[in-house]
Amino acid sequence: PPALYGNRKNSQGINMNIQTQWNELASAYQPFLSRQWQAAPVIDGKTLGGTASEVRCPYDLADVVGTAQFATAEHARQALDGLAAAWPRWNATPVEERAAILERLGDLLEANRAELMALCTREAGKTLQDGIDEVREAVDFCRYYALQARQKLGREELKGPTGERNELFHEGRGVFVCVSPWNFPLAIYLGQITAALVAGNTVLAKPAEQTSLIAARALELMFEAGLPKDAIAFLPGEGATLGSVFCRDPRVVGVCFTGSTDTARIINRQLAEKEGAIATLIAETGGQNAMIVDSTALPEQVVKDAIGSAFTSAGQRCSALRVLYVQRDIADRVIELLKGAMAELKVGPTHLRENDLGPVIDAEAREGLLAHIQKLKGEGRLIAEARLPEGLNGHFVAPVAFEIGGIHELTKEHFGPVLHVVRYDAADLEKVVAAINGTGYGLTLGVHSRNEETAARIESLARIGNLYINRNQVGAVVGVQPFGGNGLSGTGPKAGGPSYLLRFINERTTSTNT
Ligand code: GLU
Repeated sequence: PPALYGNRKNSQGINMNIQTQWNELASAYQPFLSRQWQAAPVIDGKTLGGTASEVRCPYDLADVVGTAQFATAEHARQALDGLAAAWPRWNATPVEERAAILERLGDLLEANRAELMALCTREAGKTLQDGIDEVREAVDFCRYYALQARQKLGREELKGPTGERNELFHEGRGVFVCVSPWNFPLAIYLGQITAALVAGNTVLAKPAEQTSLIAARALELMFEAGLPKDAIAFLPGEGATLGSVFCRDPRVVGVCFTGSTDTARIINRQLAEKEGAIATLIAETGGQNAMIVDSTALPEQVVKDAIGSAFTSAGQRCSALRVLYVQRDIADRVIELLKGAMAELKVGPTHLRENDLGPVIDAEAREGLLAHIQKLKGEGRLIAEARLPEGLNGHFVAPVAFEIGGIHELTKEHFGPVLHVVRYDAADLEKVVAAINGTGYGLTLGVHSRNEETAARIESLARIGNLYINRNQVGAVVGVQPFGGNGLSGTGPKAGGPSYLLRFINERTTSTNT
């Protein structure tokens, strides 16, 4: 059987060597297909009651995955009191101890990967491969931020005049709020939290409404790893209810947010108007991601990478490809191959390994996508649509590709398995890049060209966070492809990159006349 985890070390030499044979993982995974989980607000280690709702599996609406109890505004106030009181002690905890907790958490995530994968599939509708990748990314974040904290958060002596000792050091800033998305319910959730914690902040964790169960399970593992009970408060619930409390609280020093551009703006506005500390917003938001293919590219490779970039995770990645620009000379060939490849895609329940794609997250997401799909079909622009099998009982959207006139026709991000194809003339390459820049987003961009000058020209012109040349454009690896964009796509710094922790700290200096 194929090894699903490879032997892998990232550029920092962090060991990501998780070797698991599929057979072993598959049998460990089975018992979790009928398990139910619970989530409820947790403050100071105590589980509290809230408004309960049933969590249903997005690929099988008859499958009850568990119950989530949502926190109230009063819980949020109580949580902030506790986190503010606990901060000085957590901040005074040596970096080494905080880093060691992250590493233990990484080990516990690995040890519990079968359960966490089952949660990724049953609560978020992810494929098994996506579940594996997600656990691995979460582990990577723990180990990478532990290493970064050791390297960057120590005391540094700076040269000054004789008779004076000058030191630069870092500390946490206070209470950070981490608001995470449902599309990476484990990796991004833990990436935000571990960064904020290891830098010396106490954390209010607000997972996405759709994925509270996996977040609650990860919280248990954080406590098992030795995180003090008062260093984190866990508030599953509605963003609007909880956000209006924490975005206005004078003690909140920052919000780390991944989600829509519109929500980031609301948070930013509220933070700007609040009393107390001038709070930081670290936001990773949407994209309108393109791939540019010139006539020197290999059509087979282009189609493989376009399919992978557009349809992995049912297109529900910020990094996902939405607009494939193909030079007119090879467009017919690429479109023909694309049709063939799309006919092969298998959509269905994702606990079955044979399925390439699962559902989208919920009914609302599906309806929004179907409206866009109906509109483009009505305009006669369909290139290909994958087949949906009979008898599905979930939020499925068949992967689909359309031909459009340019990226400017898309007025919003369509967060699902919808690919748009545009033909362009070689002479218009710079106009294509200008149109992509013109969306205001700047997250991922793919380039397929065997002409190095073309790739270099695009690199210099494109205002983009992550550029991928002659490969797919999803699946950034922690410490290898630090991830994040600019403009409408986010504030930076990049998650999984060397500058990330520095946004969570206060810098201090002490000068002593000796
Ligand atoms: N880091 C992920 C990737 O490279 C995307 C993260 C997101 O969707 O927010 O595919």
